[in-house]
Amino acid sequence: MSELQVAPGGDLGEVAYLRAPAGPERFRRRAQRLAALAPGHAAGDYLAFLALVCEAQAAAAGATRLSPNGRDLPPGRPLDVAAPPPAEWRAALSSILASLEPAAMPGPAREALRQLAAAGAGPLDELAGRVLSGELGADELARAPLVGAALQVPYVLLAAGVGAMPVARAGDAGCPVCGFGPVAGLLLAGDRLRYLSCGLCASEWHLTRLQCAVCRQADQVAYLAVEGGDGVARAEACHRCHAYTKILDVEKAPRLEPAADDLATLSLDLLVAEQGFARTGRNLLLATAGGAS
Ligand SMILES: [Zn+2]
Ligand SMILES: [Zn+2]
Repeated sequence: MSELQVAPGGDLGEVAYLRAPAGPERFRRRAQRLAALAPGHAAGDYLAFLALVCEAQAAAAGATRLSPNGRDLPPGRPLDVAAPPPAEWRAALSSILASLEPAAMPGPAREALRQLAAAGAGPLDELAGRVLSGELGADELARAPLVGAALQVPYVLLAAGVGAMPVARAGDAGCPVCGFGPVAGLLLAGDRLRYLSCGLCASEWHLTRLQCAVCRQADQVAYLAVEGGDGVARAEACHRCHAYTKILDVEKAPRLEPAADDLATLSLDLLVAEQGFARTGRNLLLATAGGAS
């Protein structure tokens, strides 16, 4: 976790409320983790392809220039996801599409690349809005992870600079920096603090353990895991509001990266969904039709 800068934010107690992502390095770490998880995994080809997508994100992030002085970020939620996305996302998309062009990929992914490369700014921004709100048509699913990957680039770069700003504590399950839902929670090694990791800007915010991330109640929380697994991922499921959040244990997998390890543990989501719980937050590298965040 050395790439994370612990930054002050909001109403600080002894625990740092906000941990800002470290910019392009975040995508490199995600690509490396996916590449390490792929061999021997039942969905290994899929994880290996996503590792290439994240390498392309890292290259796009390295080439993206945001002018910090030109941006007057508001306090509260400085990168509000309900506002139009930063225009740089489309340049990031072009860069990602160019990086992926030589890669081997299934037919639908190749077709998605072609459609995105041919789309104009207006339709792309509209598609970005649907990717962020989770209201996707069935014919958009192949394009959505590439759009999600491109959107993450400017949000992560901007969030890397937000660490020094005062950020209000989130009163709901959304990220205090941008409002998007958590992709997973992290149980840190050592102090065993729990942070939720944003599925869009990769900011991490503290939430006391043993309470539901959605309704904040503690009395009806249960932990579910895949039997015989390595114990890295558990679902914190709430019998009060029927939401669950995936919790990843850094002590069991020091190199874990929230979005990557989420994608490698989707069998846990299937198990928990069968029991009637609804997931909190989404992974933008994984598209599902008609879902809400
Ligand atoms: Zn965020
Ligand atoms: Zn709850």
